[in-house]
This record gives sequence, C-alpha cells and structure tokens, in this order.
Amino acid sequence: MHPGASFRRGPCHVISPVSVMRTCWINGQFVPESEAKLSIFDRGVLFGDGVYEVAAVFQGRLLDADLHLARLTRSLGEIGMPAPASNDTLLEVMQSLATTNGIDEGLVYLQVTRGEAERDFPFPTTVKPSVFAYARPKKLSDDPNAAGVAVHVVPDLRWARCDIKSTSMLAQVLAKQAARAAGTFEAMMQEDGLVTEGGSSTLWIVKDGVTYTRPLSSDILAGITRDVAIALAIDVSMPLVQRAFTVDQAVAADECFLTSATSFVLPITRIDDTVVGNGTPGPVTQRLREAYLDRARRLTTV
Ligand code: PMP
Repeated sequence: MHPGASFRRGPCHVISPVSVMRTCWINGQFVPESEAKLSIFDRGVLFGDGVYEVAAVFQGRLLDADLHLARLTRSLGEIGMPAPASNDTLLEVMQSLATTNGIDEGLVYLQVTRGEAERDFPFPTTVKPSVFAYARPKKLSDDPNAAGVAVHVVPDLRWARCDIKSTSMLAQVLAKQAARAAGTFEAMMQEDGLVTEGGSSTLWIVKDGVTYTRPLSSDILAGITRDVAIALAIDVSMPLVQRAFTVDQAVAADECFLTSATSFVLPITRIDDTVVGNGTPGPVTQRLREAYLDRARRLTTV
C-alpha cells in the first residue's frame, strides 16, 4: 500500500461539495476529475507560476467569458507566457464543461501554468504551458449573501503587480482566512489606510449619493464585474467617481458593497464591529445588483 494511503480522506471543501464525479479538462482532454492531474514538476505547483480566470455560468451559459479571456490574454502577455490555445477554443471548452456537468448557475475556473520543467527560477523558453479547467455549481441569482455580508479589515500584504491575475495568492489566502476566522465573509485589504480591494473582489462605497471605487492601477485587479458595474451605473446616470477611499470613509459610508464574477453585486452591511449605514442593503447597491442580474439574464437567454 502507498504509505500515505491510510491517511487519504474524501474531498474536503468548505464550500458545498460537488457530489458527482465531474468532467474536467486538462491539456486538451476532457477527463473525470480523478484523472485530472499535474506533475509535481509543473511550475504552477513549484512556483505558483501561472495565471487564471473565473467566469460565471448563468442560466446554463457563460457570462462575459469573452471579457475574462481578454484579461487572461493580458495576464499571459505580462508574464511572457504563450497562450495554450485560441480564445475561441477555450470558450468552447468552458461552455462545454458547464453543459456536460449540468451547471445552471455556477462558475468555470481556468488556469494556465508555465508548464513542466526541472526546478529553476528562470524558465526555459521551450516549456509548454499546462492548462486545465473545471466547473462547479454556485447560487448566483438567489444568493443568501444578498441580504448583506460582513468584512474584516486586514493589511494588504501583496506584491506590486496586483493587476496580473496570478495564481500566487498566499497573501489573499491569509487575508481571507483571517476574514473567516473573524466570522466575516470577505477581507477588506488596506494599505496606509487606503482600501485596495477585497481578498477576491472589488470594493465600493456610496456617500451622499456618489459611488466610489478605486481607479485602475497595478495596486488592484481590473475586475470584469467592476467594468460592467461602471457601465451600468453610467447607463442610469448614477454619479460615480473612480477614487481611492480610506477605511474610515468606508466605515462612515452610507453604503458599501463588493463585486466579483461569482458574487455579482453584494451589500456589505458591517465592517468589523461597525454597522454600515442602517445595516441593511442600501438603495444604490440594490439597484446595481438588480441591473446586473437583469443584464445577466438578458445575455444568457438563448
Ligand atoms: N480583485 C481580486 C483580488 C480578485 O481576486 C477578484 C476576483 N477575481 C476581483 C477583484 C474581482 O474581479 P472579477 O470581477 O473579474 O471577478
């Protein structure tokens, strides 16, 4: 028997387990998840040398996957990694994973790593990228978190290229673990008192009718949901300013919310021990969430 065999347990997800054996995709092949394996010499394993994307599945269809794949292309370019396949192929694979696995609402995760090579920090230019993807269900339209979530303020311990959607995410792992240990849903990361972003989301506040979110720079990820929410706000002439805000301003805001591809728009009703506004989802947040859901319904109706 393999020495570790007696310690092997079933899959251990804190988020709801996926009970049936999924079909995943790895290096050009659809396989059962038990066969979706990477080498220990893969640079994604050894160095976190990889980039990824997560797109929502809504009404059984991918949502804004073209925008996510455009960001993947940018991330790949920024780290000098060749594309593993055309975006059309990746799009087909992602949709196929959603369909094959019977996902009505959920997400598709796609990762590209530098590939397999003898461990050395600089990379051989000939190494072939590894690529894999899987789908999982997640409640999106009827999300219980739409009643409001809490966040926990933590220092932003990340590197200087947060605009790259890198798989090296130890700082976010620790930030989100601290948030969970504090009994909250998400981390509010701050640097020198200024809010950067959530552990895996874009953060926003509303004060005196004006919505604020941090401007794009290498300090944050250019959220796809952020872009869409800005366009929706402009559509309905909602006053919006792209300006950094402090933790103190967030605590004193009328409303606070987060956006991400798999949370859409979620109200933040508590920041550590302080209730935001009157402690219930505010009108701007609710309007944006509804507008986001309407657009998602429209785009995924075939
Ligand atoms: N910031 C960070 C650090 C994230 O990990 C995410 C989620 N990928 C976001 C923002 C939100 O990005 P998106 O709207 O594209 O999901």
